Amino acid sequence: MSQPRLHPRTIEAVKERADIVDVVGEHVVLKKKGREFVGICPFHDDKSPSMTVSPAKQFYYCFSCGAGGNAIKFLMELQRTSFSEVVLELARKYQLPIETLDGPQQERLRAQLSRREQLHRVLTLACGFFRSNLQQSEGQAALDYLRSNRGLQPATIEAFELGYAPDRWDGLLQHLQQVEGIEPALLEAAGLVVPRKGGGGFYDRFRGRLMVPIKDRQGRVIGFGGRSLDGSEPKYLNSPETELFEKGKHLFGLDKATEAIRKDDRAVVVEGYFDVIALHAAGISNAVAALGTALSSQQITQLCRCCDSKRLILNFDADGAGVRAAQRAIGEVEQLALQGQLELRVLQLPAGKDPDEYLKAHGAGDYRALLDQAPVWLDWQIEQVLAGLDLSRSDQFQQAVTGLVALLGKLPATAVRSRYLQQVAERLSGGQARLALQLEDDLRQQVKGQRWHGRSSRWEQPGDAGVRERAEAEVLRLYLHCPSERAAIRQELHRRELEDFALQHHRLLWAAISSLEEDNLGLGQLEAISRGASSGEALADLDLPRLLGDQLLIEQSELLNRLTPLLEPSEVQRAGLEQPQLHLRGAVAVLERQKSLKRCRHLLDAWSSQRLETLERCIARLLESGQPNSAPGSSEPSNPGLDMEARIDALFAELNRDALQFQSLYYSERKHVAHLDEQRRSRLQEVAGSEPVDPLPA
Ligand SMILES: [Zn+2]
Repeated sequence: MSQPRLHPRTIEAVKERADIVDVVGEHVVLKKKGREFVGICPFHDDKSPSMTVSPAKQFYYCFSCGAGGNAIKFLMELQRTSFSEVVLELARKYQLPIETLDGPQQERLRAQLSRREQLHRVLTLACGFFRSNLQQSEGQAALDYLRSNRGLQPATIEAFELGYAPDRWDGLLQHLQQVEGIEPALLEAAGLVVPRKGGGGFYDRFRGRLMVPIKDRQGRVIGFGGRSLDGSEPKYLNSPETELFEKGKHLFGLDKATEAIRKDDRAVVVEGYFDVIALHAAGISNAVAALGTALSSQQITQLCRCCDSKRLILNFDADGAGVRAAQRAIGEVEQLALQGQLELRVLQLPAGKDPDEYLKAHGAGDYRALLDQAPVWLDWQIEQVLAGLDLSRSDQFQQAVTGLVALLGKLPATAVRSRYLQQVAERLSGGQARLALQLEDDLRQQVKGQRWHGRSSRWEQPGDAGVRERAEAEVLRLYLHCPSERAAIRQELHRRELEDFALQHHRLLWAAISSLEEDNLGLGQLEAISRGASSGEALADLDLPRLLGDQLLIEQSELLNRLTPLLEPSEVQRAGLEQPQLHLRGAVAVLERQKSLKRCRHLLDAWSSQRLETLERCIARLLESGQPNSAPGSSEPSNPGLDMEARIDALFAELNRDALQFQSLYYSERKHVAHLDEQRRSRLQEVAGSEPVDPLPA
C-alpha cells in the first residue's frame, strides 16, 4: 500500500506531541543523569550506555556510533520505516487527528482508524455484558467464588471490572448482535467468537468462565482472561492475538499500577491475574503480571519507563514452572542487569505460596517486608544452583562448582566478580577459612577458563561458517518437514547443548517454532519433551511450515525471504528428508564437533599464554630475590646456601597448576571430538554401504 501524503498540520502536531524521552524510552531503558537520560544504544553493539537523550533539546545522540536526531528519526532508523509511516504511527498512539492531502486515501485511512475504534467499542460492550451477568442469578456461583474463595470486596470486583461469561454457546454473540447490532465478523476480529467448523456461523469463545478484562496502558479493554469455574481445562483461557491485543507487549494491571510504581520507585511482577488483584486490594498497587507468556524484554522496558531507579522484583511461584519462568525472565534482562542498567531482584515466598495465598495468611505488612529483603537476581541464582545439593558428597560438590563457574563466568572481571567469588568460596567451604581461600583461587582460575562464548567467531577457522550453516539448516529442515521426528530432534539438541543456533536467522526461526509449540502445548510439556520425559507425539500435529509462513508474512517479511528455502525445500533437499534419523545424527555430530574444536583452540590458547606468564613470573621472582647479576641457571650462585634449581622447580610446580587444569580440560575436549568423529564415520558407512571411508582430518 502506498503511503498517503500527510498534511503538514498532522506532521507538526506529531512533532509537537511526541516526546523524545517517551518515544526512545519505549525501546531503550533510560536512566536519568542530571538533566538528561542515558541508555544502551540500539544502533550499535553497545557495552556501556553511550546514548544520551535530551528532553530540553528533544533529541538523542550516541557518542560511540554517532546516531542522532529527533523522535521521528529514531523510530525510522530503529524500525527501518518511512517518515510518513512513523508519523502515522505516532499520530495514532497519541490520538491526534490525521489529515492527508489526498481524498480517497484519506477515506481508507479513516476506515482503518475507525476499525480500531470499533474493536475497542466491541470489547468495552462485551466487558459490560460480562459485568452485568456477574450480578444476575446465572453469575451467582462466580460471584460466590470471588467473595468466598478469593475474599474480594465488592469495591475490588468493581475496580477490576470482573465479570462472568454465561455457560451458553451464543450468550455474548446473541446479545451483541441483537441488542447492539454488531456483525459477527467484528466479534471474531476482537477475539470474542470462533467460527464453527464447517462454516455455519460462530460461537462464543468464553463460556461459563469468570472474566477478567485486560487493558492497555491507557485503560482501554484489549482482551480478556477467562478462568474456568468447574475445573474444565484450560484453567485460564486468554484472548487470542488480535489487532489490539499483542502478547508480550502488554502487562496486566499496568494501567492501575503506573502511579504506584512511580511513587514506590519499584515494580513487582507476579504470575497471575488474581495475584495482581489481591495485591492491589491489599494496598500494594505497584504490581503487574505478564500475560500467560514469559516476561519479554519489551514488557520490562515498559515497566522501567515508570520507575526512575529501574527496580524490578520478580515474584513468581515457587514451583518448578515458576522457577523456570523467573529464570527465563532473568535471561531476557541479564545483559541490562549485568551492565547495572536495572536492579533486578527475585522474591520467593516461604512455603511455596503464591502472593494471593501469602497475603491471606500474613497481610500486606509482612509482604512489604519480604519485598524489602528480596535478594538480587545473582544471589537468587546461586541459591538455585546449590538447592538440593549435598556438598559433602564429592559428585554433588563438583556439580555445584560447575554450575557456579558457569554463572559467575558471565560477570565482567570487576570488583563485583571478586566479591561473588569470595562469597561462593565461603559458602562451599562450609566455614573453613583455609579451604575457602584455596577454593576462591581455584574458582577464579576456572572462571577465567570458562569465560568463553560459543558464539564468538574468534576461535573459528576459515570454512567453519559454511559447514555450520549447512548443518544447522539440515537440522531445521528435518524439524519442519519430518513431524514424527520432532521429539527426537528436540531431545538430541537438548542432550548435546546445541539449542543455541549460531546463525541469527536460524536462531529467530527456532524461537518462532518454540513459541508456536509453547502456545499449543504449554511450556512445561515442551520442556518435558526436551528432557525425554514425555513422548512428544503432540509435536507432530502442528503444521509448522504453514503456521510459520503465515506468522512471518505478517510480522517479519524480510526474515521470511531468508527462511523460504527452509520452509519450502527444493527437490534435492526433499530427497535428503527420506532418512531423517541418519541425516540428523550426521548434522548434530558436525555441529557438536565444530563447537568442541572451537573450544579446544580456545583452551590451547589460554593454556599457552598461561605457561608464558608462569615463566615470566618465575624469572621476575628470581631477580627480586637479590641476585640482579646472576642469570637464572647460572652455575655460580652468589648465595651458596640457596639451591636455585630446586627453587625454580618449586615455582614451576606451584604456578603450573593452572596450566595443568587447562591441559586436562583440553584433553577431555579432544577425546570428545575423537568420539564424535567415530560417530560420523559409522554414519558415513551406513550411507555409503560397505565402501571404505577415508579417515577424517584432525
Ligand atoms: Zn550507538
